[in-house]
Amino acid sequence: MDVRSKLFNIVKSRFIDGEKLPQWYEDRLEICAGCELNSKNVESKGSLSKGYESIVGAFCTSCKCPVDKKAKIEEEYCPVNKWAAIKDKENTIVSTLHTIQNLSPDKVKLEKQGTFYLLDFGTMKFGSDSRITLNVFSEGMSKITSKGSCGCLTTEIIAKERDYDFSVTYNTNLEGEIEGKTVEFLYTKSNIRTAIKFLIKGRVIR
Ligand code: SF4
Repeated sequence: MDVRSKLFNIVKSRFIDGEKLPQWYEDRLEICAGCELNSKNVESKGSLSKGYESIVGAFCTSCKCPVDKKAKIEEEYCPVNKWAAIKDKENTIVSTLHTIQNLSPDKVKLEKQGTFYLLDFGTMKFGSDSRITLNVFSEGMSKITSKGSCGCLTTEIIAKERDYDFSVTYNTNLEGEIEGKTVEFLYTKSNIRTAIKFLIKGRVIR
């Protein structure tokens, strides 16, 4: 979002009654209130920041937007993706490293299991469309790649504005139980290569 759009949103927010907004507005405010990047929670502020805060109130020290105004605009987003879990709490896993949202909850279950994530496709029909999509975000990640443990798994990565959609397709022309198959989503952050490993579970029946 460019500076002009941000300024427009701040002005627009003045005419929006927060009390008439859905629950996500309150949820956003609650997350921001406890966030270490909220200016109110930053102890060692410079005089410029103090002056800005005295004019606009609490602001996000990452994007510089006034928190209460920013939170009112639905299309606004948290620069470090802390609001992601609000969208769909049940289908989002937030860890200290990254956020993973299951965009295909009707086709696959996503669960964290120790150092792995489990992707349970359940029972699939022979020859059916098994493609599922996850959304992965980690502030500042780069060099994104993915791979499957065998040719029966196809992966695809689509870059979004700040995050990535990660699609996984299992070859449902192979009948039977899926055992020991994995896919990985790899990224680099602060010169550290990280692999998010997904264990694939499910079965294909005729
Ligand atoms: S928008 Fe995000 S980073 Fe900024 S204060 Fe709110 S939760 Fe923190």
